Amino acid sequence: MPEPIALPDFDTFGSQTISGLQNPEEAHAATQAILKDDRESGRPRIDDPGDNHVTLERGILRDGTWYRDAEVRELTGYDEEAIASVGGGDPFKVFDTLLMRGVTSVGGEPMTRKLAGELLIGDRELLVMGIRRATFGPNLEFESLPCPNCGELTDLNVPLDAVPFIHLEDPERTEHEVRLRQGETAIVRLPNGQDQTAVLGIKNNRAKQDSEILSRCVLRLVRPDGTEVDRPPVQAISMADRRAISDFLVQTQPGPRLLDFTWTHEMCGEEVPLPISLAVLFRGL
Ligand SMILES: [Zn+2]
Repeated sequence: MPEPIALPDFDTFGSQTISGLQNPEEAHAATQAILKDDRESGRPRIDDPGDNHVTLERGILRDGTWYRDAEVRELTGYDEEAIASVGGGDPFKVFDTLLMRGVTSVGGEPMTRKLAGELLIGDRELLVMGIRRATFGPNLEFESLPCPNCGELTDLNVPLDAVPFIHLEDPERTEHEVRLRQGETAIVRLPNGQDQTAVLGIKNNRAKQDSEILSRCVLRLVRPDGTEVDRPPVQAISMADRRAISDFLVQTQPGPRLLDFTWTHEMCGEEVPLPISLAVLFRGL
């Protein structure tokens, strides 16, 4: 059995990338532990492919109408080779390649990089989940998964539908208000693929990444007296307010929360985390 190709870690799943995990090292370690054990004790078994349709949360806007229907397709060996050959296993490039190859159309338009950039991060993740479903089916099955609480090995069947999912309250609302500490209100929009691409171009500087995303997504600042500042300089916003805005952008972004998946081990009764990474989703490639 060949080694699975190197696929990206969970943090390619955008909303977390954009504004950072609370405990990235911890989550990373948890994922690695699962993958390591999975390599040793059996890989996920995957059942029949599902259908190819995905309904997006936000979709694309054309002439005043939102289009949410998208089509994905089952990946082939050509795709597998293409994914394996992208730049040194760069997680974002792998995610991008998955999206560009596996999505057939969005709102009736053929997939392009420009179109992918328009999509909310959560919609991009939904599409990747759809590609996964079309390719390997709707369930992720683990054999001999060790319970992190009691250590017993267990077989686990995770329907992808069981992954926590955030919906937009109003899919057509493109601006949101975030209350800040001194009575100000930030008017923001949710990050999309273009924002994700811009942030990922900034390496190893979390504060600069935050500034980049805030400068793109904070549209206006409304003062207590009602005056508005367009595109405020985000470095001048207080740290606490920056964090509040970042948290809002992460929490409000729709889509699957793969890292938040937990399961309850019947034998010991503990609810234990099982963060599901892209590598777990696609390791059958
Ligand atoms: Zn247990």
